[in-house]
Amino acid sequence: MSEQIKKIVIVGGGTAGWLSAAVIAAQHKSAPGQGLEVLLVESSDIPTIGVGEGTWPTMKNTMQQIGIKESDLFSRCHAVFKQGGKFVEWVHGNGDFYYHPFTVPLGYGRLDLAPYVSNIESYAVESNFQHHICEAGLAPRTMAEREFNGQCNYAYHLDAGAFAELLKEHCKNNLNVTQIIGTVDKVNLTEDGGIKSIQLQAGEEIAGDLFVDCTGLASLLLGKALGVPFKQCNDVLFNDTALAMQVPYPDPASPIASHTIATAQNAGWIWDIGLTHRRGVGHVYSSEYLSDDDALANLQNYLGEQAKGLEPRKITFDSGHRERFWHKNCVAVGMAAGFVEPLEATAIMLVEISARYIAENMPADTDIMAITAKRFNQQMDYRWQRIIDFLKLHYMLTKRSEPYWQAHCNPDTIPESLQEDLAIWKTRGPVSGDFDSAIELFPAASYQYVLYGMGFKPDFEKRQYLYQQSEQAQQIIQRNAKLTQQMLQTLPPHREYIETWLSTAR
Ligand SMILES: Cc1cc2nc3c(=O)[nH]c(=O)nc-3n(C[C@H](O)[C@H](O)[C@H](O)COP(=O)(O)OP(=O)(O)OC[C@H]3O[C@@H](n4cnc5c(N)ncnc54)[C@H](O)[C@@H]3O)c2cc1C
Repeated sequence: MSEQIKKIVIVGGGTAGWLSAAVIAAQHKSAPGQGLEVLLVESSDIPTIGVGEGTWPTMKNTMQQIGIKESDLFSRCHAVFKQGGKFVEWVHGNGDFYYHPFTVPLGYGRLDLAPYVSNIESYAVESNFQHHICEAGLAPRTMAEREFNGQCNYAYHLDAGAFAELLKEHCKNNLNVTQIIGTVDKVNLTEDGGIKSIQLQAGEEIAGDLFVDCTGLASLLLGKALGVPFKQCNDVLFNDTALAMQVPYPDPASPIASHTIATAQNAGWIWDIGLTHRRGVGHVYSSEYLSDDDALANLQNYLGEQAKGLEPRKITFDSGHRERFWHKNCVAVGMAAGFVEPLEATAIMLVEISARYIAENMPADTDIMAITAKRFNQQMDYRWQRIIDFLKLHYMLTKRSEPYWQAHCNPDTIPESLQEDLAIWKTRGPVSGDFDSAIELFPAASYQYVLYGMGFKPDFEKRQYLYQQSEQAQQIIQRNAKLTQQMLQTLPPHREYIETWLSTAR
C-alpha cells in the first residue's frame, strides 16, 4: 500500500548529517504542520571524524541555497579561500610542482591551448592566471566585489568542527530541523526488509518514512542493519591511514595559503591546509608500504620546529564504497556511503550532491521510492568510478622510483576505464566532449591540469592538421600573461583581505 513520505530521520551529526538536513529542509520548507518533518539524531558519545577541511567550489551554491552568508561562514569557521591544489614532488620528487586551479584555462571550450604551450608541464602556468595568484598568496577577489563572487573561481578551507556547529545552529534556528541527542542501539526492520524505526540507548523509538544514514565509517543503517556490502578499491588507491595535526601559526599575522598543498612522500602525501587561526596538516599513507613511526617522521620532517609538542591523531579507513547507496527506505550520505583518500576533497562535494539529489527527487510516496533509489544508485556508482579514476590519475604517471609509487604505475592497479581514457588522450588529450554528461564531477580542465602537470604529452604531431591555430593560441596565452600582471597588482594578500572584509561585514 502506498504511503506518503512525511518524516525524514537523519542519523549522524557530522558534516554529512547537518549538511543533508540543511539541504533537505531548505528545499522542503520543513516547518510545523507544513512540508516535511526533518529530524536529526546524533550521539553525544560517538565523536565525529573531526577532519575534512577542504571543499570544492560547489560549496558556494550550497551555502546560498541553504541561506548561510559567506561572511558568517568565514567568521564562524575560521574559513579562508581555496583556489585549487598545489601538487608538490608528485612527478620526480625533486622540488617539482604543478597546480590544479579551480578556474578553467583561458579560451576553454573555444581553443584547447595544450598543443600550443611551450612546455606541457607548464600548461597551468601559461593557460591560467590562478597559478600565479596562488603563488603570490593573494585572495581571489577585491573589496569591490560581493559575497560569493570573485575574479578567480574558489572553494573554502574551513574548520570541520566549527562548520558542523554552524550548520547545526542554522538547521535548528532557521530551517526547523529537530535535533535529538541519543545513541542508536538497535535498528528495527519492516517485513519487507526496510527500516521501521531506530531505538536509542535511552529506550526511545523513532519511526520514519525515509532514513538518511550519516553515521560515518560505522554505516550503522545501510551497512550494518541492511547489510549492503562494501566494495573495496584499495587495489587501486592504496592509502588507508592518516595522521592529522593542528599546527599553530608562528605569528598570528602569518600569510595564509589560498590553496591546499599536497606534498608527495615516499609512500603517500602530506596535506597542508591554512585556516585563519591555525593550519591543518596530515599525512595520508599506505600501511602496507609505511610504518606509523616512519609516517610520523615524515610529518615531523615536513613541519620542522613547528612539530614540537604536537601529537598526531591516527585515523584508519577502508577505501571504497557501498555497492548500493539507497536501499529500501534508507539512503547513505557521507562516510557511511564510502570514502577514498581526501586528495581532491571529493567527500564533502559528494555529500552536497547526494543531499541535493535526495531533496530534489524526494519521493512523494513509498510507491516511487524504488525508482528514485535505482536512479540515485546508478548516478552515484558512476560518480564513485570517476572519482577513483581521477585520483588514480594523480599517481600513475609519476617518475618517482619508490616501491609505493611504482606499484601505482603497475597496469594491474589501473582501472580499465582509466586505461581506455589514457589510450585516447595519448593522441589528443582530454576534451570537453569526454565529460559531457550532466553528472560529471570534474570538467575536462581538471583532467588537463593533472595530466599535463604530471608531464603527459599527447602526440599532437600525429594529426598536426588539427592544430593550425597557433596565432589565436598565442594571443590567448599573451592575454593570460597580461591578465596575470593586472591581477597581481590589484588582488590583495589573502589574510589582509579576509581581515578587512570581515571587519566591515560585521
Ligand atoms: C584524514 C581525512 C581527511 C579528510 N579530508 C577531507 C577534505 O579535505 N575534504 C573533504 O571533502 N573531505 C575530507 N574528508 C572526509 C570528511 O571528513 C567527511 O566526508 C565529512 O566529515 C563527513 O563525515 P560524516 O559526517 O560522514 O561522518 P562523521 O563526521 O564521522 O559523523 C558521524 C556521525 O554519526 C554519529 N553516530 C555514529 N554512530 C551513531 C549511533 N550509534 N547513534 C547515533 N549517532 C551515531 C556520530 O556521533 C557523528 O555525529 C577527510 C577524511 C579523512 C579521514
